[in-house]
Amino acid sequence: MNASELTTEEWERYARQVGPGVLSREGQTRLKNSAALVTRVGGMGGPASLCLAMAGVGRVIIAHGGSLISPDLNRQVLGCEGVVGEPRAPHFGEYLRSMNRFAEIEAIDHEPSDEEAAELARRVDVILSCPPGFEERMRLNRAAVESGTPLIDAAQWGMSGTLIVVDPGRTACLECLYPEPPPFDEMFPVVGGISSAIGAFAALEATKILSGNGQPMYGKMWVIDSFADQNTVVELQRRPDCPCCKNC
Ligand SMILES: [Zn+2]
Repeated sequence: MNASELTTEEWERYARQVGPGVLSREGQTRLKNSAALVTRVGGMGGPASLCLAMAGVGRVIIAHGGSLISPDLNRQVLGCEGVVGEPRAPHFGEYLRSMNRFAEIEAIDHEPSDEEAAELARRVDVILSCPPGFEERMRLNRAAVESGTPLIDAAQWGMSGTLIVVDPGRTACLECLYPEPPPFDEMFPVVGGISSAIGAFAALEATKILSGNGQPMYGKMWVIDSFADQNTVVELQRRPDCPCCKNC
């Protein structure tokens, strides 16, 4: 790959995040030359994609079907009153472009099918899985494992959330952890603060993975139960008989 160098304007933009204890110049250059897939871009994926675009990830691909509805606006930070009733993806993509002209934004107006997820996984360097339902989360997990692309799985409920970071073939995948999908209610309760917190931490993990700076949280699940004020980090073990990752 011929790596693109950053312009003087870009170095000025990222001046606060390049230096000791943050990103190296090589790390920032790696970000510019990398691609991330974020699906969906609601409560968690919205702030995640915003952080990645603002951090200087060269290409951010977002995918989310449907139109914005009023109850989304307690947490979907890429939305606004004027977009209620409109399809999310084009508006959210435009907002991300308005926040960083140096980042390329690709907006897909639906949730990827099995084939699309597999194709997208091969085009990117990291996947941020932020859908509410397990069917989509498992689809993205399969695409990540098959392509060897690192996966960050974000989930939320109420004032709680979880973050799982998968290095396919080396650490536990989502299916190792959840052999059977748990019950799911489309209109589950959620408070915007936890959505943005989980999304921002997902972006931070992606930034470390893409830049090569810092220590990614591979093989762990971070459980944030803000309602009960309890935070736990669980070391995950691979299941040798996991149908998804046993052969990789
Ligand atoms: Zn597995």
